[in-house]
Amino acid sequence: MRNLPVAEPDLSGNERAYVLECIETAWVSSAGHFITDFEEAFARYCGTEHALAVSNGTVALHLAMTAMGIGPGDEVIVPDLTFAACANAVVHAGATPVFADIDPASWNLDPARVEACITERTKAIMAVHLYGNPCDLDALCALKEEHGLYLIEDAAEAHGARYGGRPAGSFGDVSCFSFYGNKTITSGEGGMCLTSDPALQEAMSRLRDHGMDPERRYWHDRVGYNYRMTNLQAAVGLAQLERLDEFVEKKRRIAQWYRQQLEGAGFAFPAVPEEASCTYWLTSVLLPEGTDRTRVQERLREVGIDTRPFFYPMHVLPPFAQDGSFGVSESVSARGLNLPSGVTLGEDDVAYAAHHLIEAAGKEAPSSLHAVNGALHEKTI
Ligand SMILES: *Cc1c(COP(=O)(O)O)cnc(C)c1O
Repeated sequence: MRNLPVAEPDLSGNERAYVLECIETAWVSSAGHFITDFEEAFARYCGTEHALAVSNGTVALHLAMTAMGIGPGDEVIVPDLTFAACANAVVHAGATPVFADIDPASWNLDPARVEACITERTKAIMAVHLYGNPCDLDALCALKEEHGLYLIEDAAEAHGARYGGRPAGSFGDVSCFSFYGNKTITSGEGGMCLTSDPALQEAMSRLRDHGMDPERRYWHDRVGYNYRMTNLQAAVGLAQLERLDEFVEKKRRIAQWYRQQLEGAGFAFPAVPEEASCTYWLTSVLLPEGTDRTRVQERLREVGIDTRPFFYPMHVLPPFAQDGSFGVSESVSARGLNLPSGVTLGEDDVAYAAHHLIEAAGKEAPSSLHAVNGALHEKTI
C-alpha cells in the first residue's frame, strides 16, 4: 500500500547548509543576512521594489491592511471560498469582511459579484488565487481603479503563478504570501509582503518592528507588532526559493497526469484564465454532483491516499455569518476535493490515486450518475 500525503515539502537543497550557518554563527533571531537575502530574492522573483519577510501569511495580510489605514467602519471584499485567514485578518484589522460569490468555472472571485458588493465603506479587494489558479486580475484591477480601492493580492497558494506575463505577487498594492509547511515553498512558518509603494513599505516595516522609529531607537510613534521572521526561517525560505521554478514545473506535471488519468470520468478541474498560468499548488477536482465525499475520502484513506475537502464557504462559519446569495461557492465547496499533490509524487503514484478515486467515486455516486458522467465530461474536463 502506498502513502500519498496531500502535500509534503522537499528540503533536500541548501536548507540544511543555510540553517547550519545560522547556528554556527549564532545569528538565529531576526537580524542576519538570510532575511534580507530572502526579501531581495523574493522581490526580484516577483518583480516588485520591496519585500518584507514576516512571521506568517495571516499577519502579512493584517500588516498590509493596517499600513493602508484600514480599520473600524471599513469593508474589505473577500471571496466566499477561501481559507479563513483572509477573513480573520480583516477582523483583526478592525474592519468587516464582505464576501463575494465565486465564478463557477475558475472557483475564484467573480468580478461582477465583487462590483455588486462595493459600497462607500469599501476600502480594498482581497484577490485570492485559490489552489494556485490566478483570479481575474484584469477585471479586479479595473474595479480597483474605477472605485479608488486598494488591491490586496493573497498569493499564499500561488507562488510562481503568472498572469498576463507578470508574476503573481506583482499586482497588489500589497501582495501577501505564506510559507507554511504545506505551501509550494516553505520556511516552516513564514510570510512575505510585497509592494512597490515606498510609503506602504515604510509603514509596514515600522509596524512589523513594534512601531519603532528606525532612526530613533525605542521611540514608538504608533502601536506596532512583532511580526518579524527569524534568520533560521529565512535560511530555509531562501533555499526553497532557489527551487521554486522546479517545484512549480513538477506540480504542473502532476496536474497534467491527473487530467489524463481522470479524463472522461466526470470530475471537473478549475478553468484557468487564458492569460494566466496556474501552478496547481494542489490538484483539485469537483466530484460528480451527489457523490458522498466523506465516504470517498474514507475509501481513499483505506488505500493510503490522503485528501482534503475544499474550504467551507466563509459566510457559513459562525464568526463570519452573513446573508446573501452564495450558491456557487456552496456547491463548489460541497463537491471539491484536493488530491495528493506533493512534489515527490511520481507518475505511478498519480495513476494509483486516480484509479482509486474513480473507483471510490463510482461506488459512492447515485447509480443514475454513471449515465450522467458522459454528459458531464463535455462540460467539465
Ligand atoms: C495559507 C493561507 C493563508 C495564511 O497563511 P499562514 O502562513 O498559514 O498564516 C492566507 N491565505 C490563504 C489563501 C492561504 O492559503
